[in-house]
Order: sequence, then C-alpha cells, then structure tokens
Amino acid sequence: MSEGDTLLYLDGVTVTFDGFRALNALSLVLEQGEMRAVIGPNGAGKTTMMDVITGKTRPDTGKVMFGKDTDLTRLDEPAIASLGIGRKFQKPTVFEPHTVWDNLLLALAGDRAPRFTLFARQTADEKRRIEQILETTRLTDVRHRAAADLSHGQKQWLEIGMLLAQEPQLLLVDEPVAGMTDAETEQTAVLLREINRTRSVVVVEHDMAFVRALDVKVTVLNEGSVLAEGPIDLVSDDPKVIEVYLGR
Ligand code: ADP
Repeated sequence: MSEGDTLLYLDGVTVTFDGFRALNALSLVLEQGEMRAVIGPNGAGKTTMMDVITGKTRPDTGKVMFGKDTDLTRLDEPAIASLGIGRKFQKPTVFEPHTVWDNLLLALAGDRAPRFTLFARQTADEKRRIEQILETTRLTDVRHRAAADLSHGQKQWLEIGMLLAQEPQLLLVDEPVAGMTDAETEQTAVLLREINRTRSVVVVEHDMAFVRALDVKVTVLNEGSVLAEGPIDLVSDDPKVIEVYLGR
C-alpha cells in the first residue's frame, strides 16, 4: 500500500448500548501513514470507536474497512491484532517484576512461553531490535531496571515499545499522557511523531497542549459522530466545538 491510500475507513458505524447510541453513523477515513488525534468530551464515543476498530465491540450497522478488502467487523480481536493493529490502553500493562529489556524480549516473542523466552539464548536479531526500540522509546539507560521501578511516563513508553516489537502497521493509543509530567508529555509527542514516520497512528487524548504538539489533523467526536475535523487551530475556533467543550 502506498502513501495516499486509505488505511482505515469507518463507514456509518452505529453502536447501541441498551437503546443508547454510543456511536451514531460514525464515518472516518485514515490515510496510510497518517497520524490522527481524536478528541471530544466524555461520553463522545472515543473508546467505543477504538473498541470497534479492534473488534472488542461489534457495531449494529456500518463497516470498518482495513486496507481495500478487509472488513474488520467480520473478524474477532486476535484476528484483527494479527493484521498489524496494536492498541495501547490508558493503564500500562507491563510485567512489573521483569526488567525493561525482558519486557521487550517477551513482547518480541509474542505467544512463546515466558519461561522459555527468558532462558533461551537471544538471537543477534532480537538484540538489535530491542536496542532499536530502547533508543526510540528513550529507555536505553534504564534497560536493566525492573519495570516496577520506572516512572509513570517510562512505563507508558515501555508499553508503546512492547507494541512496536509486534511491528504494527496501525497503532491505536488511548490517552497516553494522562498523569504525565509536562516534560514527559512533550517527550511522548516527540516519540509518537517518530513512530509515525513508519507507522499509522490514531491517538485519543484530552490534553490539548499535547494534541497541539502532535501537529496533526484532529477529529472532534461528539454524541457518537464527527463534529469537526481539521488542524487543531481551525477546530478549536469552530463555534460548534467551543459550545460542546464549554457546555459541559
Ligand atoms: P468516551 O471514550 O468518548 O468518553 P465512550 O465510548 O466510553 O466515550 O462512551 C460513549 C457512551 O457509551 C457513554 O455514554 C457511555 O456511558 C456509553 N457506553 C460505553 N460502553 C458502554 C457499555 N458497555 N454499556 C453501556 N453503555 C456504554
């Protein structure tokens, strides 16, 4: 797939919970190689949108196309993950007692038994890939430290690194900077921009300074559909968007 092609296409996706429309004919197009920020007030449908993409929630109507031919709504979560769609939840799920290095090694090994992986001899290729990920995620200096001893920000970066080990084509990131210091937030914007050089990214986030630093097209969700879309300066001046944010 070349740049300019559509990677992900949500077409009229509706999700209803007990009669309540969490997504209401939501349509969204993500180009190959694009990073998109998705914002919107609480309850706008951001998490449900991510759940529909990853197969956690099945829409009542609508399609979610990945590439030209794959309708994700027909697949289950493992099948969707194996297509190269990785999701990072808000709360890090690293293996706390293990070192940063071993966490990455386990992520590289995927489904292989952890005990086998940690005691097996590491290949030169595995070492090289781990070193690359450590560099990208700025964790080289703490590679021998237990994940439990990392700062909150470093744990988030480690989890992003663990997803990178699986070489996703599309990375979905849920509120990555919640609870981070300003410096960590800035660093995370740099990290995601770096990742976006080789992968497509969808990032859901509340932190406007962070969204501004990403400097990408923004989609504003409200009541389960797209309220506005465009550069952050344009959408933040849009009277509809201002009303939704001030009217909370
Ligand atoms: P956001 O992530 O933008 O805050 P969500 O996608 O979490 O929004 O939620 C959208 C709406 O759907 C909310 O009103 C929420 O209460 C409702 N909702 C989400 N998941 C469920 C569920 N499993 N059962 C019932 N209602 C749900």
